[in-house]
Amino acid sequence: MTRVHNFSAGPAALPLEVLQQAKEEMLDWRGSGMSIMEMSHRSKEFVSVAETAEKNLRELMAIPDDYAVLFLQGGASLQFAMAPLNLSQPGDRVDFLYTGQWGKKAIAEAKKFCDVHLAASSESDGFCSVPAADQWQLSESAKYVHYTENETIGGVQFHSIPEVGDKPLVCDMSSSILSRPVDVSRFGLIYAGAQKNIGPAGLTVVIVKKELLGKAREGTPSMLDYQVHAGADSMSNTPPTYGWYLAGLVFEWLKKKGGVAEMAKINANKASKLYAAIDDSDFYRNPVAVDSRSLMNVPFILADQSLDTLFLEQAEAAGLMNLKGHRSVGGMRASIYNAVSEESVDALIAFMHHFEKTRG
Ligand code: PMP
Repeated sequence: MTRVHNFSAGPAALPLEVLQQAKEEMLDWRGSGMSIMEMSHRSKEFVSVAETAEKNLRELMAIPDDYAVLFLQGGASLQFAMAPLNLSQPGDRVDFLYTGQWGKKAIAEAKKFCDVHLAASSESDGFCSVPAADQWQLSESAKYVHYTENETIGGVQFHSIPEVGDKPLVCDMSSSILSRPVDVSRFGLIYAGAQKNIGPAGLTVVIVKKELLGKAREGTPSMLDYQVHAGADSMSNTPPTYGWYLAGLVFEWLKKKGGVAEMAKINANKASKLYAAIDDSDFYRNPVAVDSRSLMNVPFILADQSLDTLFLEQAEAAGLMNLKGHRSVGGMRASIYNAVSEESVDALIAFMHHFEKTRG
């Protein structure tokens, strides 16, 4: 078996131990004689898997009891609509801190339901920074404030939780959840597509303060109402059982690794090595303001962009996969989520040095 160094932005690398365990349990989940995929979501076996996963996620993120944790479908993109449907009424104003392409999509969706106000935007600098907090213009009347903690495409990350007074803070944490500790009590709503740091695509994790439930606007379809899912332990309809199970394995893996505080140290170390390799060279460049750089997605461009194709070809030949930047921005991007090992980052850095020496 050969496993490559996988720098995919998502669906992304999963821990090898998790995949191995899933493989071992594939045909006969713990003596049940069937795959976990073949079981009723209401069976006591699956319910125990589901409950354990939630318990472990609560433990890993220190989620307070007055928050519901939901395991849903529809991706983070559906949350772009569910957040306004559940947390605002027609005509209400909502504030956005706008730092990139995923924020743009969340804003476009929210505009269908709300009066969207851009309280801050880094569009004028090409989304290469998080605007300074003293420049934000938060609205008195906003029902909530939304931000994208880590912009997966631009590689721009908030490194502190925005101060928004008593407004519920809504966070798209798709590409940074579980990468470092966060104080969940500061948020009204956190959502994340699973396919980066949680598990396979098809599962979306939502963490919502219970006092915000039960206020969806009239006409909200049941499946888009957080209260409906919270009231049924995310089993109002058939949940994404396999994704939920695999997420549970990832949570157990994270606990064994020492939890998110330990992950944060490893992630900071991986990112700082990679940024140092980029900054120490005139051959590679990262355009993001140093204090806003992402610890999860590291975009970089080659000084001579005519070498992009060759870089990617030779990287692949060396077992370094999925380094092509997002189609909207070009260049390269290395996604270095929890499951991407320090050895993979070292291999990438060694390759970058080698490529620079031979082509630079
Ligand atoms: N938000 C962020 C920050 C993302 O990175 C992504 C996907 N890459 C999305 C939202 C959209 O997620 P999904 O494809 O699960 O709808």
